[in-house]
Amino acid sequence: MHGGLWICAILLGTSASVNERMTVSICTWGHLPEADVAAGENTAHSLFHSAGIDVKWAPCEAGLEGDEAAQQHWFTLRLRDGESFIPAPSGADRTLGEAFLSEDGDAYIGEVYYQPVQALAEAHNAEATVLLGYVIAHELCHLLLGGKHSQQGVMRAAWDSSDLARMNRGGLKFSPSESARMRRVLKGTGAH
Ligand SMILES: [Zn+2]
Repeated sequence: MHGGLWICAILLGTSASVNERMTVSICTWGHLPEADVAAGENTAHSLFHSAGIDVKWAPCEAGLEGDEAAQQHWFTLRLRDGESFIPAPSGADRTLGEAFLSEDGDAYIGEVYYQPVQALAEAHNAEATVLLGYVIAHELCHLLLGGKHSQQGVMRAAWDSSDLARMNRGGLKFSPSESARMRRVLKGTGAH
């Protein structure tokens, strides 16, 4: 009898937690295979899903701008087939992606560079489309939470070969704190 009640409580608890939502318009610049873009979106989708966030993917032309984009949590990511125009500091790794942050917090545009993504994946025997998904997720997290990096996980400033191996196994996730802060931003109750 007690067992039955307990199971019931768990089910109620699960159904009460509603995921937060955001929309992401993907714009491809250059020659990016559609299947690779879709695979990258899938990887990013599951990462956010496990953080309690549902991502709706939208076409490039549907994207919003300025205040409206920020208010509706509608982000735009440009996927380029080349390199960043902003050179990486000497000695640093090639830039995989960038989030364009603003002082007033209305950040909604990011870029991902597929050529260095493919090169890094190849160098570590990793799947380029999986890495693409992680870069998409990393830049979207910057747009939500700002420019800070973490010591480990999805929000590390640079990933090493063990991170790439964990990505391939699906074992690299947002931290519980990052997930909670992103959900708070999307809910409109602030990141802190
Ligand atoms: Zn970063």
